[in-house]
Amino acid sequence: MKGLTISLLLLLTTMISCQQKKGEDKVMYSPDTLMLSKAFETFKEPRLSQRRFNHQVIEPLILKRKDSPLFQVSTLGHSVQKRTLYQLHYGKGSKKVMLWSQMHGNESTATMALFDLLNFLEGENDSYDSIRNLLNEKTSLFFLPMINPDGAEIFNRRNALDIDLNRDARATASPESKILKAAAEANKPDFGFNLHDQHIYYNVPGTGNPATISFLAPAYNYEKDINDVRGRAMQLIVGMNQLLQHYIPNGVAKYDDTHEPRGFGDNFQKWGASTVLIESGGYKGDPEKQYIRKLNFMILLNALIEIAKGSYEQYHRDDYQAIPENASKLCDLLIKNITAERDSVTYPVDLAIKRDEITAPDSVFYVRGRIDDVGDLKESFGYQELDAKGLTFMKGKLYPTPYNTVDELNSSKVMDLLRQGYFAIQLRNIAANRHYSLPVLLSGNGLIYGNSPTLGSQANFFLAKDGQPVYAIVNGYLIDLAKSPDEEFRNYIHP
Ligand SMILES: [Zn+2]
Repeated sequence: MKGLTISLLLLLTTMISCQQKKGEDKVMYSPDTLMLSKAFETFKEPRLSQRRFNHQVIEPLILKRKDSPLFQVSTLGHSVQKRTLYQLHYGKGSKKVMLWSQMHGNESTATMALFDLLNFLEGENDSYDSIRNLLNEKTSLFFLPMINPDGAEIFNRRNALDIDLNRDARATASPESKILKAAAEANKPDFGFNLHDQHIYYNVPGTGNPATISFLAPAYNYEKDINDVRGRAMQLIVGMNQLLQHYIPNGVAKYDDTHEPRGFGDNFQKWGASTVLIESGGYKGDPEKQYIRKLNFMILLNALIEIAKGSYEQYHRDDYQAIPENASKLCDLLIKNITAERDSVTYPVDLAIKRDEITAPDSVFYVRGRIDDVGDLKESFGYQELDAKGLTFMKGKLYPTPYNTVDELNSSKVMDLLRQGYFAIQLRNIAANRHYSLPVLLSGNGLIYGNSPTLGSQANFFLAKDGQPVYAIVNGYLIDLAKSPDEEFRNYIHP
C-alpha cells in the first residue's frame, strides 16, 4: 500500500515536471499595466488633443524627426490632393512590423496613439530604456500615420476620388492604395497593424457596454483557413484582449471574419504578414476618444514587446475565437415606456435616439439628433437611458415673440421657455453664431413638429406628466427640466 502511494506520488511529480517543461518552450510574459499607463501619460503627444486634426497638424511632427538618429523618415508618395505620405522606420531587428492608420479619413484615434509611441521611443535615461533596447534590437517598426490625408482634411471616410481605400487593395486605383501596397512590398513585414475606428453604437452582445475596442485577424481566403500567419495574429489579439480586460472589462469584441478580397488587412494576411485589425469604438464620457487613444497606445506597445520577445506564442487561438462578436444595439439616448398617441390610438413605445455628427462648412462639427428606432426596444441600450413610465409624448411650441439675435438668449431664459413648453425660438438675425450651445431650437432649423414619435425625424419633443413638461428632448439631447443643464450642446442654425 505504502509502495503504491510512493509510486503514485512519483508519477504525479513526473507529470507536473513534464508540464512545466512543455511550458518552458514558450516565453511567458505578462504586461506591467501600471508601467504602460504611466508611459502613456508621460509621452502622449500634446499637440493632438481631439479627434479632428488634419495633415497640416501631423506633418511637422513627422518632419521634426528627419534628422533624428532613431528614425529614418521617408517620403512614400502623395495623395490625390498632393499631400505627402510618410514612413518612419525605427529599429534594426529582424522582426518587421508595419503599423498604418487612418486609411479612413475620419478614423483618427490610432493616429494619435502612433505619435505617442514615437515620443515613447525617443525617450531616454528612464525606466523604459530596457523596452526601447529590446524593440530596437529585435524589431524593425514601420509607422505610416494617416494614409488618407485628403479624407482627414474634411473628416471624411473616403479619399478625394470617393474611393474607400480599404476596398482598394486589389485594384489599387488610388495613389494612396498604391503607396500602401508598395510599402508592403518593400518592407516585407512579418506583422501588420491595420488601425481604424468603428461607429460608437457597437456593443458587446447582451450588454450595454460599448465595444470600445474590436479586433479581427482577417481571413486570407473565403474558406477562412487558419495558417501560421493568421494564427499568430490571433495569438497577438489574445494578449491584447487580456490587457484590455484590466481597463475595460467586457468591453472588447471582434468582427466577423468574412473574407473581403478588396480589404488591405485580408491582403496583408495573404501576403504573409500576421495582420491585426484594431477598431476603436465608443466609451461613455469620452467623446474625443482620448481614453481610447490611451488604450491603443498600451495594447500596441505591449504587442510590440510581445513580438520582440516571442511571448505571443503562449496564447491559444481558441481564446481568440471566444471573444464575442460585435452587436449593434447601442444608441445615444434610449427612452423606454413613453405613452404616445396617433390616429386616436394610444400606445406604449420605446425610442432610440442617435446624434449624428455633421461637419459644418467651417469644418467644426455639429450634432443632429434623430429618432433612429421606434417600438419595443427592450434589448437595446443607450449611452444614456430614461424610463419614461407615466410620461406622455408632447409636441413643442414655437415662442411667438421673435428675438433679434442668439446673443439675447441665455441658458436660464431658455430653461424658462422650455418649462412652459416652448422649444423653438424665432430670430430676426440668424447670420451670426451659427453654432450655439443652448438647449433650444432656433427658427431656420427646418423644424419638424410631430404630434407623435416619427421614425427618422429630428428628435425634438417633450415628455409630460399631467400636461406639464418634465423633460425636453432637443436635437437628441435629454434635458431634465427640474435641473439646470450641464452638457455642451453642439447645435447649429441652418441658414
Ligand atoms: Zn475604417
